Amino acid sequence: MNYWLIVNDAAGDGRRGERFWREHLEAAGLEHLRVGYLADTDWEREVEPGDRVLVAGGDGSVGRAATVCIERDATLAVLPSGTANDFARNLALPEDPAALCHLAVSDHTASVDVAWINGRLYLNVAHIGLGTMPAREATHERKQRLGRFSYLVTLAQRAKLQRGFSGRIECDGQTVEGHWLTIAIASGAYFGGGHHIAEARIDDGRLDVLAVRHRSWFRVLLAFLVTRLMGHTPRHDDTLVHLQSSQCHIQLRQDRTLTADGETLGRMSNVSAFTRRGVLRVVCNPLAASQLATLHPAEDRAPGYDAPMVRPGHGQEP
Ligand SMILES: [Mg+2]
Repeated sequence: MNYWLIVNDAAGDGRRGERFWREHLEAAGLEHLRVGYLADTDWEREVEPGDRVLVAGGDGSVGRAATVCIERDATLAVLPSGTANDFARNLALPEDPAALCHLAVSDHTASVDVAWINGRLYLNVAHIGLGTMPAREATHERKQRLGRFSYLVTLAQRAKLQRGFSGRIECDGQTVEGHWLTIAIASGAYFGGGHHIAEARIDDGRLDVLAVRHRSWFRVLLAFLVTRLMGHTPRHDDTLVHLQSSQCHIQLRQDRTLTADGETLGRMSNVSAFTRRGVLRVVCNPLAASQLATLHPAEDRAPGYDAPMVRPGHGQEP
């Protein structure tokens, strides 16, 4: 079994780089460590089944490493080092680097869900509409300066310019039509640098689709506040629509920008997403592990189920 340290030197403020983690991992008793760089792909082909891939970076880096872990049947350990570490929040990892490195080499693991949207893997949330703004507008400089608040600042600045968009959302037999301000499709329970999604879990085999209707800002704000305080969406106001389903299809009247885990995927009118329960083995806090489902993925698959394509075109690459 190999231990890999995968680093992204461009993530976060750069203080938690290769040397930082190597020292803490050695202190945790890890002697043999192979190092790979996210800018490089050579290491990906050398990862073997049962290996542990420790990735130092933010959500973007973790997504790349997760893809490799699913393809190569390896276990992922996250060493949060980026601006947005939303995936790591689902795993209740300790903040102290020494405690984190002890955990990263331990056998406390659990299986979590991974989602795909229009063929691309994502771990946290995909957005259409207002929610895509931060990904497109937050500059690297602002991300470093304001951290998680960069998303909110950008969102507030751009909110008034949104005109909304029309479309139909279909989730396992439920169909909702409307004129929307934003639609979010979440796999985990956090997005945008720590914002929690009520009732969402990363191990329930379901996507949480949250759609906000294009209404007065007072009603939108009220719906958000009620959700925050009550822990669920308002029962007598359909400003906020919350659907849970293992897959969803969204048909828009016109092309709109789609983002997933903060990356822009382009403009499109047809969006299909699905989740696969427990396909990714991750190191997590033992307390979180007892709450996360530990089902073997094979037990949860429908007959005739084919493993999803981890990334388009994989296998044809040189
Ligand atoms: Mg879920």
